[in-house]
Amino acid sequence: MQIIKSVTEMQQWVASVRGADETISFVPTMGFLHQGHVSLLAEGQRRGDKLVLSIFVNPTQFGPGEDLEDYPRDLQQDSQLAEQAGVDVIFAPEAKQMYPNGYATYVDVEGITQTLCGASRPGHFRGVCTVVSKLFNIIQPQLAIFGNKDFQQLAVIKRMTQDLNMPVEILGLPIFREPDGLAMSSRNVYLTEDQRLQALVLSQSLIKARELVAAGQKDAAEIILQLKTAINQQPAARIDYLQICHQLTLKDQLEVAGNSVLLLAVYIGNTRLIDNGFLMD
Ligand code: AMP
Repeated sequence: MQIIKSVTEMQQWVASVRGADETISFVPTMGFLHQGHVSLLAEGQRRGDKLVLSIFVNPTQFGPGEDLEDYPRDLQQDSQLAEQAGVDVIFAPEAKQMYPNGYATYVDVEGITQTLCGASRPGHFRGVCTVVSKLFNIIQPQLAIFGNKDFQQLAVIKRMTQDLNMPVEILGLPIFREPDGLAMSSRNVYLTEDQRLQALVLSQSLIKARELVAAGQKDAAEIILQLKTAINQQPAARIDYLQICHQLTLKDQLEVAGNSVLLLAVYIGNTRLIDNGFLMD
């Protein structure tokens, strides 16, 4: 396995792979890998001749006061996990490689970026779309794999690739969870032991919502009220958003249906966690 830090070197590697008529699967991440990331890599390994993992804590998707500086990093541990997962190349550029002096081009997806995480984190999806476009141009994958954990991100990337005619298949995979239900996230390391317990309120909200729906409750406002009441009982929890939306448009729904997704973002202490899930089978 190689670790490549320069864009030019990465492009040379891609040219040689493409010259040999081999396909590339690609998993973009910010590193500090966990089993959720590994599940994406495993699928990538099955689906392409070569597997590229990018590790880049992308400054343009962080807002002022967010955790860009504190975001956990461990390239050595990531390299071990990546090698075990069959990664051929880790692309791990410095910020200066991706955004040299004079950089001025950004990709903006309209509409679905305005709600949920887009409303709470202005400019976030502009940064995500910009870096993902750049990575697609550099790595030229036939397949790119994302997690449903970042449900809105996946919807935005699908919109972008379709709108810009990018020749890449986008695959979304299920959320990988800890045994107690907490969605795996690199940010879980920020949690104290007590906060870690309180963080279970996110996945428990999904379970509770599904139970309510299965028992016949279809009124979104009523479900949201009950969930918010339960979350607010956790002293460290502060709700950023909790919404029931159509899976494709991400518009709020009044009535739960087969296409309804519950999406939530909750601060546990200073750590912002997200989770989501469908409400009907
Ligand atoms: P990140 O490094 O957090 O930016 O995530 C990189 C990719 O891994 C994104 O496509 C995420 O949706 C995905 N991912 C993160 N956590 C999980 C998880 N628990 N299960 C599945 N995919 C995940």
